[in-house]
Amino acid sequence: MLRKAEIIAVGTELLTPHRLDTNSLAITERLNDIGIDVRTKAVVGDDRGDLQALFVQALERADLIVLTGGLGPTDDDLTREVVADVLQLPLEEDPSIANRIRGRFERRGLRMPDINRRQAMVPRGAKVLDNPNGTAPGLILERGDKLVVLLPGPPREMKPMLEIALRHHLEPRSGGVKLLRRILRVTGRTESHVEEVAQPVYGRWSRGPDAISTTILASPGQIELHLTTLSDDVTAASARLERAVRELMDVLGADVFSVDGRTLEQVVGALLRDRHIRLALAESCTGGLTTSRLTDVPGSSDYVERGIVCYSNRSKVELLGVPATLIETHGAVSEEVALEMARGIRDRAGVDMGVAITGIAGPGGGREEKPVGTVFVAAVRTGEPVVRRFRFPGSRDMIKSQAAQAALDLVRRTLRSEK
Ligand code: AMP
Ligand code: MG
Repeated sequence: MLRKAEIIAVGTELLTPHRLDTNSLAITERLNDIGIDVRTKAVVGDDRGDLQALFVQALERADLIVLTGGLGPTDDDLTREVVADVLQLPLEEDPSIANRIRGRFERRGLRMPDINRRQAMVPRGAKVLDNPNGTAPGLILERGDKLVVLLPGPPREMKPMLEIALRHHLEPRSGGVKLLRRILRVTGRTESHVEEVAQPVYGRWSRGPDAISTTILASPGQIELHLTTLSDDVTAASARLERAVRELMDVLGADVFSVDGRTLEQVVGALLRDRHIRLALAESCTGGLTTSRLTDVPGSSDYVERGIVCYSNRSKVELLGVPATLIETHGAVSEEVALEMARGIRDRAGVDMGVAITGIAGPGGGREEKPVGTVFVAAVRTGEPVVRRFRFPGSRDMIKSQAAQAALDLVRRTLRSEK
């Protein structure tokens, strides 16, 4: 049974600052889905000795070794040869592969260069994975009860081939185990505040045959709890995860905004649509980021009326009707101005709800009573207007993204409380 995997990404370009090995992420995700653990992964240049040493080690440790890259037709593409060499298998030309590659060239009115015949060389006994998106076929080799999979480097060729390898060669040997995953998204708390209440709950699930493992991923303004469990009984495992999600929701309350993969802008959009509310936004320090996120969601024209960027004081006066004296008295970054901006955009747009954001994104412009990161977010509806003051940490772009997140979240909380 395949349990432990190792990934080797081959290509000198992957060792430069210009190209990143993304294939191993896609491969890891799909292997995890069928209960296979990736224990080690490596990036190696197009060097025979280095690749050989890594591959020999991997064969000792893992049940499954996936190599990606280095299957091209040129001299620096060595994966096929090194693997055949280590496994002591002779390379033989497969005429059907050569014909298929020749056909690809001929369809484009080209002659197949002789060097492409290298791609038709197959270690004896290997199974060939067809490549509909390129010339290099993939290969699957067995060595005792271990499996070696060779996939091409270009992601658009690698991914479809990985699916074929999974379905026909890996899944049947993975013991029917599946990985199930649920993601809780939380906002309005820091990572440690989430951990403080969540750990005592998820800590109880971490052991035993029905274990659920929990990972916390933090980004500015958003914490994600990833719950995963391995099982050969999908129904039981889904029910187990559902119970776990409920328990965490109980302790985290309204700070959980999504348990089904939706983003905050999708959740807010659905609330606005359900309640037939149209929204207008006036953004200062976020420069349109909040409106941009809302309009990332298809169909958002149903509830986004408009968003304006009113960066200067003059624009707040001209576009929103904020009294100039109010700005002089309290400053553009203030509770009073945020509220007036929200009222102004709601009334001028003639909609049900107005939202405004004004703050100091830095790095300059901070003062003692209003340091960098101070942001006011206001929302006005028919009821009481709401305004919140925040003090966000981090760089300019982090402050902007947290401010947009807080604005979306204020809309969510306002609508939720109306029921
Ligand atoms: P190769 O199969 O080695 O000829 O790879 C061809 C191209 O695929 C490279 O120039 C990269 O742009 C891309 N590539 C190769 N390996 C990877 C990888 N591990 N992750 C992402 N892209 C890759
Ligand atoms: Mg290469």
